[in-house]
Amino acid sequence: MCGIFGIYNVAEASKLTYLGLYALQHRGQESAGIASSDGTKIHSHVKMGLVSENFTPEVFHELPGRSAIGHCRYSTTGTSSIKNAQPLTVSYCRGQLAMAHNGNLVNADLLRSILEADGSIFSSTTDTEVIIHLLAQSKKNTFEEMLVDSLKRVKGAFSLVVLTEKELIGVVDPWNFRPLSLGKKDNGYVLASETCAFDIIDAEYIRAVEPGEMIIINENGLKSIKPFKPVKQKKCIFEFIYFSRPDSYIFGQSVQKARKALGAELAKESAVAADFVIPVPDSANSAATGYASESGTPYEIGIIRNHYIGRTFIEPSQSIRDFGAKIKYNPVKDILNNKDLLVIDDSIVRGTTSRKLVKMLRKAGANLVHWRISSPPITHPCFYGVDTPNRSELIAASHTIHEIEKYLKVESLCYLSIDGMVKAVGGKKEDYCLACFCGEYPVQFNTEPDKNGFER
Ligand code: AMP
Ligand code: SF4
Repeated sequence: MCGIFGIYNVAEASKLTYLGLYALQHRGQESAGIASSDGTKIHSHVKMGLVSENFTPEVFHELPGRSAIGHCRYSTTGTSSIKNAQPLTVSYCRGQLAMAHNGNLVNADLLRSILEADGSIFSSTTDTEVIIHLLAQSKKNTFEEMLVDSLKRVKGAFSLVVLTEKELIGVVDPWNFRPLSLGKKDNGYVLASETCAFDIIDAEYIRAVEPGEMIIINENGLKSIKPFKPVKQKKCIFEFIYFSRPDSYIFGQSVQKARKALGAELAKESAVAADFVIPVPDSANSAATGYASESGTPYEIGIIRNHYIGRTFIEPSQSIRDFGAKIKYNPVKDILNNKDLLVIDDSIVRGTTSRKLVKMLRKAGANLVHWRISSPPITHPCFYGVDTPNRSELIAASHTIHEIEKYLKVESLCYLSIDGMVKAVGGKKEDYCLACFCGEYPVQFNTEPDKNGFER
């Protein structure tokens, strides 16, 4: 999972990109980078760490120009190291380009082995570099055609922003797995994974980039093409459940509205008497408000989350029970003591967080603890860009809801149904990827390539 941002023809482009990335920080905290163009040359600064740590005032002197792209990374393929940090900036036969990618390709390994057999030398383990090698080898005439040519051979999730000396390109795969939106700023344009990145720089939201759409922005203005064979769109529904910020629009829809509706639908399916509805902050806050208003149960803040956890902390040498959870969460004892709770979380992955939280709430004096999840059980890993563990580590892959309920030590556990989730988010079931909840993967992997790689 990653956050991507691009801006064209706006003063202080790299500083605005920094602000955009700052708003997208929740999408990836491992590395952050910006590449800018001054019209003749691409400049770049990419480092491991948070956006706010990586960009000092001096750094912006090295990032001149009116166009820029940025990336914050949460590794899904490739290790977490500087060689995999983005944007990836390269020189090729026509000049320079920088690319920032959100998503995961399902045929990257296959294409990489074909390219390596042909003599390509890779410097990273990212899918993104596969696209760059394909592009560099393309025999087409223009940059735009070369990019299309390379993207026709890849399969899976890609939302990309690409910067050349003279243009900015945004493109979304035909399945539309990951969100990308288009906005306007002064006389220029912006692209971002989520619209919260537009708000911070006072850019105006125009629309979501469409499935399979490529937007080319240069001195001639903005051009939109749809170069790929259309397929049934498969938007990632998990973006609404957990990943995106509630104040964003993704795929043209409000995340907050969807998340509240998920909570309301959950209440319709599984309401139970309780003194308070308590969210696991922050990811379940919005769903809990929806649940509370639908069920009529008062909403309370019973767990506080520490937002200032750095990557390095000193663990006590003496053992403190549930230390990991304590760094992040603390219960509000006065609220919880002797109360029956309806706790809402957005999802259960391994089950470790929920189990620790239940223990914490009991210790704080909670009486009955009912656990509600504003999505269905996660039974399958994601191969399209969300970091999920192997199937063997997903608790719902091998345990019934009743077994999980016992493991968490709660009075009751209910998940939202798949139909309830789709109803809440809106639109047709077939428009969404639901693979992590049902195992029906919309794009298969390890297919044999034809002589050109993959043509769609
Ligand atoms: P776990 O302890 O493994 O069950 O983790 C569950 C928590 O992780 C939930 O509170 C979610 O908000 C959060 N979560 C869900 N999906 C992801 C993800 N892909 N990456 C990081 N955290 C996640
Ligand atoms: Fe999103 Fe789940 Fe599909 Fe991955 S498998 S794209 S997380 S809905």
